[in-house]
Amino acid sequence: MFLNLLKDFWLLFGRMFPLPTTPGLREAGKPTRSSPVLVTCNFDLTVRKVLRTLERSGIDAWLLVAPSRGINVWCASGAGHFTADTVISILKTSGIAGRVDHRKLILPQLSGAGVNIWSIEERTGWKARFGPLRIEDLAGYLERGKHRAEPSERRVKFDFTDRLVMGTNLGFSSLVFFILPILIASIWLGSFWWKSIVLIFVLAVLNSLLVFRLPGKPGAARGLSLGIGAAALFLAVSWLVGGPPAGASFAWAGWILFVATYLGYDLPSWSPLWRADRKELLLGKRHTRIEIVEEKCIGCHLCDVVCPVGVFRRNPKTRRYFVADAGACQACGACVENCPTEAIATNFRSAVCKCPTCAVINRVNALKEERTDENESVGGDIAPESACCKGDGAASPESTTAEPAPRACDCGPSRGEHR
Ligand code: SF4
Ligand code: SF4
Repeated sequence: MFLNLLKDFWLLFGRMFPLPTTPGLREAGKPTRSSPVLVTCNFDLTVRKVLRTLERSGIDAWLLVAPSRGINVWCASGAGHFTADTVISILKTSGIAGRVDHRKLILPQLSGAGVNIWSIEERTGWKARFGPLRIEDLAGYLERGKHRAEPSERRVKFDFTDRLVMGTNLGFSSLVFFILPILIASIWLGSFWWKSIVLIFVLAVLNSLLVFRLPGKPGAARGLSLGIGAAALFLAVSWLVGGPPAGASFAWAGWILFVATYLGYDLPSWSPLWRADRKELLLGKRHTRIEIVEEKCIGCHLCDVVCPVGVFRRNPKTRRYFVADAGACQACGACVENCPTEAIATNFRSAVCKCPTCAVINRVNALKEERTDENESVGGDIAPESACCKGDGAASPESTTAEPAPRACDCGPSRGEHR
C-alpha cells in the first residue's frame, strides 16, 4: 500500500520519465463476453488509475494496455508512439477477440493525435470510438452507455490541480536542464545550488498556477512577465531588509528573470492547451492555420469529438462543421488524423510534437534504433518493442491469454499512410 502510494507520487510528479508497465490484457472486476473493451497506454500510473476508477465504480471491463514505450497517452500519441499500429498489435496479441462477443473498442480521447480509428476498423473489423478525455469521467461515460462523450468531457480543463502537478513536473524537467551549470557555479558560489533549486521549483509552480493571469502570449512572454515581477519583488525586499550587496542582488535578479522566462517558454510542453512549437513560444507569433473544406465535410462530428480545445462548431443549416476558434488550435493533429474525408486543411503535419522534452526523447530513441539496426545487421536478435509481429507476419508469443493467438499479422503501413 505504502509502496504503491510512493510509486503514484513518483509517477505523478515525474512524468517526464517514462515508466512502463507490461502491455497486455487486464481485467477490472469480473468482465464478461459483453463487457466493454477499453484501450490505454502502458504508462504505469495511467493503467493503475483506470483500473482503480473502474473497480471503485463497480464497472466490469477489459482493459487493453498498449505498448506506448511507457509514455502517457497524450505525449505518446503526439510523438507517434501510440498509433493505430500500436492498438492493432495489442488487439492481436492479447487474445481479446476470443473473450468477447462484440467488436467495439473505447479509446482515450487524447490518443486521437496518433490513432486513426478508421484504419483500425479497416484492418481488424473492430469499431473504435473515443471516450472521455479524463479518467475521472470514464465511469459516468460507461454508465450512460452512449456513443459520445459529453462536450464537457471532451475538453481540456487545465484546472488548479492540473496546473499544480504540471508546474511541479516542469520544475523536475528544468532541473535536469539546469543542474550541471548550477553545480559548476556552486564551486565558487557555495549555497548557490540549493537556492537555485528552490528558485526553479517556486518559479515553475508560479508560472503554471498564474499562467492565465500573466500578461503576454503563452510561452516566453508570460514567463518574462513573471520574471520581471519576481525580480522586482526580490530587489525591493533585498533593499528593505538589507540583503546582499547591490552587485549580488542584481545578479540574482538577472538569474530570476532568465529562469522565469525559460520556464514560461517550456510550460506549454506540459499542457495540452498550447502548441509546443519552440519558435512560436519564443517569438509569440502564431503561424498555425486550420480550415475545413466545406464541400468535403460529411458532418460526421469526429473532428469535434477528438479536438481537446473546442475549435469546431456545427452549422445547423448545412449540418457540416466549420472552424469557429482557429486561435485555440494547438496543432495536435487529431482532427486531421481522423477526418474520414480529408476535409481538414492545415499548414502543419499531424501529430509531430515539437516540445523540448520530445526532442530529447526522440533523439535518444533514434540513437537506440540506430544501434539496434547495427546489432541486427550483424546477426542480433532484438524484438521490436511495440510490434505485433517480428516482421515475419507471425503473432508475438507474448500473448497474455490462454487463447491461441491469431496466426497472421498485417502490421503494415506506418502513420500517415493509412488513409
Ligand atoms: S471529421 Fe471531417 S468530415 Fe467529419 S465533421 Fe469533421 S471535417 Fe467534417
Ligand atoms: S483543431 Fe487543432 S487542437 Fe483541435 S484537434 Fe485539430 S489540430 Fe488538434
